[in-house]
Amino acid sequence: IFGADRGGRLNSAGTDLSDPLVLGPLQAEIDRLADRQYYAGPTFPGPESGEIAPITMPHDLTVEVGKRRDATPQEVEDAFARASAIQPGWDSLGGERRALLLEEAADLFEAHTAEFLSLATREAGKTLLDGVLEVREAVDFLRYYASEARRQFGPPIRLPGPTGEENTLSLHGRGVFATISPWNFPLAIFTGMASAALAAGNAVIAKPAEQTPLIAALAVKLCHEAGIPPEAFQLLPGAGEVGQLITADPRLAGVAFTGSTETARAINRTLAGREGPIATFIAETGGQNAMIVDSSALPEQVVRDVVASAFQSAGQRCSALRVLYLQEDVADSMLEMIRGGFEALNVGDPAHLSTDVGPVIDPDAQAALERHVARSEASGRHVMRCPMPDDTARGCFVAPTIIEVDSILELTRENFGPVLHVARFRSQDLGQVIADINATGYGLTLGLHSRIAATRRFVEARVRVGNFYVNRNQIGAVVESQPFGGEGLSGTGPKAGGPHYLARFAVERAVCIDT
Ligand code: GLU
Repeated sequence: IFGADRGGRLNSAGTDLSDPLVLGPLQAEIDRLADRQYYAGPTFPGPESGEIAPITMPHDLTVEVGKRRDATPQEVEDAFARASAIQPGWDSLGGERRALLLEEAADLFEAHTAEFLSLATREAGKTLLDGVLEVREAVDFLRYYASEARRQFGPPIRLPGPTGEENTLSLHGRGVFATISPWNFPLAIFTGMASAALAAGNAVIAKPAEQTPLIAALAVKLCHEAGIPPEAFQLLPGAGEVGQLITADPRLAGVAFTGSTETARAINRTLAGREGPIATFIAETGGQNAMIVDSSALPEQVVRDVVASAFQSAGQRCSALRVLYLQEDVADSMLEMIRGGFEALNVGDPAHLSTDVGPVIDPDAQAALERHVARSEASGRHVMRCPMPDDTARGCFVAPTIIEVDSILELTRENFGPVLHVARFRSQDLGQVIADINATGYGLTLGLHSRIAATRRFVEARVRVGNFYVNRNQIGAVVESQPFGGEGLSGTGPKAGGPHYLARFAVERAVCIDT
């Protein structure tokens, strides 16, 4: 039952932007914060400063939002010393007391919704709607992992044994955990991975994405205000070199990472090559996600769900739809309708409520996507692009794009942005379509639009994905309801927001007493 483990406490209600009584004060607060400058630096700054980098708005690179101050090697060293010293005490607090602190943090996050929204828009280029979903998911993670800490990190469980023998089993933190988080969910995933590690009794060293440290710094500040000791949750901003120093440290007990498959491999190699404990590695990586639409699907629903899955968040979700398979007898009419929905998308300033698609994160991402579109055009593919307004020149905008292809296997990389590929299939080839999807090696999300139960069963029995969505969009997994994460090239599991997640951050201790 939804929320049952949490004393009936449901997931965050979020913020209803369609209610003028909510939107008015929220907008006024966002406007008030529009010029505020932010700073992200190490939680315990040392005497020497690391590099300082400006953080600019993805939709207008001429505007600075604040500065990132990178951690120095000495600060990484000192962070490990502090974290290692506090971790046993943090662990021995137990699940209940850690849960109370995480719940306090959740309340503070909700109270700072407007400031988080302002930062999500300015630092990460998120639309207001995506910002609302982001805050909500962060709050949900805090409360859900708090409830899981209570459930799993309470008194030891008793296990069977013969008379005269007492057996118990308990879960404990592994030690110092690093979290390395992405820019596409700079608050939700940052908070989710860190709060899971904390809930399980670990001290956390958190390195946010180099593009989005400011919103992470605010999250850490609020967690400290909630009573989580700063030594137990330390921020170390920086680029890849800081991540490399953290993951090479022999005091590290585990890493939770969300980002590209390539970076996950690099971290895995570093962990394997260093001294110290055999580290746990939890990675949530990329996807090459498909949706299959057969001739029984309801066209209006398909249009709504394809447009949301491919273009919401400017396609910058690892769950996003990349390859749409349309059954050939309905392909022309479906594509025509999808084109109608797609051409109506509003591209522009993410702070405007009417904007559907904001910028991509930075000039590198923009250039890579444009190269892919240009290559597709050069190879004779039919390419459709959404009209763009005139005032997007100062930002990293990519016009939403549809490219017709023959098969998912043509795509050699994940195109992380508002680019949808469309292929056609004959109903007798459905088995081959699924085989091709599996052959990519990725296994994150799959969408299916079909009203035929036998087709659903056929697909479900064959796909190798972590999250399979039927007759709906394939993004926006909800904490506790749709535990999220993939397999193969898409990640190691366990699933974020699911009941098995926290255990991976923990060690198990069995005690046997001869009474
Ligand atoms: N959990 C998000 C979703 O379901 C995606 C997370 C990601 O992009 O890493 O859409």
